[in-house]
Amino acid sequence: MTRIVVLTGAGISAESGVPTFRGADGLWEGHRIEDVATPEAYERNPDTVLAFYDARRRAVEAVAPNAAHRALARLEEAIGGDLLVVTQNVDDLHERAGTRDLVHMHGELRRALCTGCGARPGWEGDLIHRPPCPECGERMLRPDVVWFGEMPYDLDCIENAVVACDVFASIGTSGSVYPAAGFAALAAAFGARTVELNLEPSDALVPFDDARAGPATELVPAWVEELIAART
Ligand code: NAD
Repeated sequence: MTRIVVLTGAGISAESGVPTFRGADGLWEGHRIEDVATPEAYERNPDTVLAFYDARRRAVEAVAPNAAHRALARLEEAIGGDLLVVTQNVDDLHERAGTRDLVHMHGELRRALCTGCGARPGWEGDLIHRPPCPECGERMLRPDVVWFGEMPYDLDCIENAVVACDVFASIGTSGSVYPAAGFAALAAAFGARTVELNLEPSDALVPFDDARAGPATELVPAWVEELIAART
């Protein structure tokens, strides 16, 4: 059996209408990254940071998964437990498309994190009004999003899957955020075939065996069909 790990980034959700991290202006939805995506920014100006993620959560509710998310769900249906999708995205478009074996290494907009008790409750509404934590009652909820300088979730599980996979695919990610940006080189060092599907070639540490440039909604369905056809 071919074991596949797919790493996705903001580019896979771009055609659903979710802007990527670094636009042409180097900003995320008009904000400097250090003003909205670091623990220091949250300490300095919690209202700005909470309002920013409240707006992102509402924006994602209004959009839908695209053909690339759906193709990965179809791949899971076809090959089951031999696929792990690791996403850097904080949106929920993979799960809404039907992917089940999914790791949100940078957290989720639809989850809050209590800095008092550590609970990570599912969250639909806003956080700006400081609602109480459903576990401990303290008003210390922040977005459950991994900021620069914080440790991503489930790294052990991800690295175990990366070193054991036969095919590693990187989809819609710029390759500039670590440790995710190092996964392709790790997979290659352990013998996996590496594939990149991105609008433009990324800043890869090690060249991909197969690098395809174009929109995810075209490249991902075509790649998935190739994989499924190769197994039948
Ligand atoms: P990034 O913005 O740094 O890079 C996006 C990449 O996608 C670029 O290389 C770009 O060329 C490519 N791309 C753009 N449109 C594409 C398309 N239609 N098809 C294929 N590729 C396309 O994003 P990243 O590498 O994921 O950076 C990381 C951080 O951004 C993550 O930590 C993530 O949490 C955060 N983020 C998430 C979302 C989301 O959840 N949708 C959105 C913005 C930022």
